[in-house]
Amino acid sequence: MAIYGIIGAMDSEVQNLIARMTDTRPVEVAGRLFTQGKLAGQHVVVVKSGIGKVAAAITAQMLVDRFGVTALINTGMAGGLDTRLAVKDLVVATGAVQHDFDLTAFGHAPGYMHGEDDSRPTVFEADKALCHLALAAAEQVLPAGSKAITGTIASGDIFVDDSDLKAHIIRQFDAAATEMEGAAIAQTACANGVPFAILRVISDLAEHQANVSFDELEVYAGQLAGDITVAMLKA
Ligand code: SAH
Repeated sequence: MAIYGIIGAMDSEVQNLIARMTDTRPVEVAGRLFTQGKLAGQHVVVVKSGIGKVAAAITAQMLVDRFGVTALINTGMAGGLDTRLAVKDLVVATGAVQHDFDLTAFGHAPGYMHGEDDSRPTVFEADKALCHLALAAAEQVLPAGSKAITGTIASGDIFVDDSDLKAHIIRQFDAAATEMEGAAIAQTACANGVPFAILRVISDLAEHQANVSFDELEVYAGQLAGDITVAMLKA
């Protein structure tokens, strides 16, 4: 039986999903409220991880170990990096890297963690079928004027609101969007042999005043990401 583990970092990313669930069975473990139940006809466990890579990794591993999820979906917001992106657009990850993982002192490329080729960052590859479903769902749900693109998500434990850091992440990782959890969920998924998808609505452009943009769009973007997640589960 397929069970989807759905992770958002913040209430604005999960509450709209939990509100639409049926047969809910909430369980609290390690300070996290895991809501098991049904959503769009699928068995799901929805949980708020908290912000950042460690919080996300702890949560993802618990979904696998304690709740037996067979796939992980990360829904939420991100700062746009790709020049094609505007706020309210969507990025579906083809893969995820950790932009603040740095073993460059040993001659490895920024973001390189393990593997044969240390001249490139370590990219955790998203599941192609789930990526496809997310794009198809986006086509149905995105309002006129918003678009969906695919690309690399670069995660790190920093809210990027600075043009220099933004330029660095684009240059080093060729990333489409930046956020703070996706690559940790991706790493956990890969370690456990579980497929994953990351879908992120653009809340800001990861530069000056990104925080203002984020605050303005948080409710809208969290809801839109939730709507796309639900359409994806339906499909
Ligand atoms: N408002 C919160 C902080 C939000 S941090 C507070 O006051 O505590 C931003 C969240 O959205 C993170 O979970 C991250 O994954 C995502 N995000 C959106 N835009 C981002 C950006 N420009 N840089 C990094 N993360 C971003």
